[in-house]
Amino acid sequence: MLLACLRSERALLAYARRIERYRSASLTAHSEEEALRALRHRLPAAGPDELWAGDDAAVVRSREGYLLLAADAVVAGVHADLSLVGLDDLGWKSLAVNISDIAAMGGKPGHALVSVVLPPGTDLDLLYEGILEAAGEYRCPVVGGDLTSGEQLVVAVAVTGTVDGEPVRRSGACAGDRIYVTGPLGASAAGLRALRQGGDGTAHRRPRALVAEGVAARAGGATAMIDLSDGLATDLRRVADESGVGVVVDDVPVAPGATPEEALGGGEDYQLLFTMSGPSPVPGAIAIGWCTADPPERRLGDEPLPELGWEHRW
Ligand SMILES: [Mg+2]
Repeated sequence: MLLACLRSERALLAYARRIERYRSASLTAHSEEEALRALRHRLPAAGPDELWAGDDAAVVRSREGYLLLAADAVVAGVHADLSLVGLDDLGWKSLAVNISDIAAMGGKPGHALVSVVLPPGTDLDLLYEGILEAAGEYRCPVVGGDLTSGEQLVVAVAVTGTVDGEPVRRSGACAGDRIYVTGPLGASAAGLRALRQGGDGTAHRRPRALVAEGVAARAGGATAMIDLSDGLATDLRRVADESGVGVVVDDVPVAPGATPEEALGGGEDYQLLFTMSGPSPVPGAIAIGWCTADPPERRLGDEPLPELGWEHRW
């Protein structure tokens, strides 16, 4: 699929310039995005057909085909406000967001390792209630991990995954591809608002990993895919940057109760965004725009795509 996508000379030159910039960049005093890009150029080169960093999950070769590896940490106070959500919700989320990264490659989860940094007095039973609920729901058993004490609650999860055939990377979108999302956006941000006003906020407390949708998109010929963890505007830019294409969005589907701004930049929806040339094979998926042959192009209708979304800075 990737080979079938002919990149323009302009896209290749832009890519080469980016590589040179990040090769010499420091890892400190950067945003998450910049630091991760710089780090990619400090790591050894991936093996043939492998992808070690820079996507939702790493892809390594195994005897059976490809093995997917995802790791993500959930930090109390950063990714979850414990005055609004329960420890069981935080536990659920820690596993679900990793499984979502496997789903974003078109894969299915295998096994999970869970490491917890635990402040004194933390209700580990309640935390694990949510972790094991998600493990059961997604058939992704927890097979090990670590427990250690610390000042701030951190749940660091690693998940394996398998994929039938080629995984779907962020880098395969082609000019002319349609851009789809698996559902309306902004539900998590609207859920967080509801929680602050005493409501239920399920969409924020219990994000869902869309494994079946990711598998269907891959099988149907998706050229690129990402899970919307940091907001449509940010995550679509990542696909466009990695693929060397421009993007034009002409419709942002807004979840019930959400605002258009939350739909564009709210983040933590974990809907999947994918590109492909034909009609979507995923039931309920919504076409939101298309990819263009002009790599710097980032448009929402006739306007520039707003710089909205979540990014860690340090
Ligand atoms: Mg992701």
